[in-house]
Amino acid sequence: MRSSRLAAMTFGVLWMSVSGTAEGNHPRNPRDPVSRALAFFEPSHGDGEAFLRQLRPAPVSASVRAAVVAALPHEGELEPTDDERAKIATLDAVFEFHERKGSIVIKVIDVGHAFVGLHARTVLLLSRDALSLVQPEELQALAAHELGHEFFWDEYQAARAGDPARVQEIELRCDGVAVTTLRALGHGPEPLVRAITKLTRYNERLHATASGASYVSLKDRKAFIEAIARRLSSRARQTTSGPRSAAPRAVSIGASGLERAPV
Ligand SMILES: [Zn+2]
Repeated sequence: MRSSRLAAMTFGVLWMSVSGTAEGNHPRNPRDPVSRALAFFEPSHGDGEAFLRQLRPAPVSASVRAAVVAALPHEGELEPTDDERAKIATLDAVFEFHERKGSIVIKVIDVGHAFVGLHARTVLLLSRDALSLVQPEELQALAAHELGHEFFWDEYQAARAGDPARVQEIELRCDGVAVTTLRALGHGPEPLVRAITKLTRYNERLHATASGASYVSLKDRKAFIEAIARRLSSRARQTTSGPRSAAPRAVSIGASGLERAPV
């Protein structure tokens, strides 16, 4: 497998892998990562957008961003093709929703497998393999997951030092951020499920999958994504007669910038 110094810089990245199977209806241990991630969103009362607004950190400063970008190695970086640029342009809606227009730098890289990651809170790394696999809505879902990492950045770094269950929980929280984002853009959770399934299967074929205690199975991710989507839909049904509809709101498309990596 080819390697890249850029990929090596994406600390905290867990590659998607492992096969998923149908989720059963067995009661979950309240301490398992799926239950804990669902509990994390409980205070949102189903209003994910308001919940994220409260939690969203300030973006990194322009000077820090410039220093991060200047320190990136050129090895492994690719010039985006026209098709890739068109797909990347659809991420503007995601950046606008997350108040990150112009504060995220996108780099297309070659790492020999499907990879999406956020580096240093401000560089979104997209491998050419990943870009070629996904449709625009699926790329939006993956980018939204990565922007989710910004909400939990320090906690994630600390968890990686020895709390694999917390790492799993945070990865699932980021999926919750992605589902909330997709909903705001007028989509259901399906693009996220399709995207993580595609990347997982692709990397499995390349034997470029993650493993270990920090790894979140595709099965658990799908179970969480479906559960959090149901919760948001339930909230929408409850509030459609109220003063604020929970229907997906329009997000305008603008110019973009780009940042770190998947589960
Ligand atoms: Zn992640």
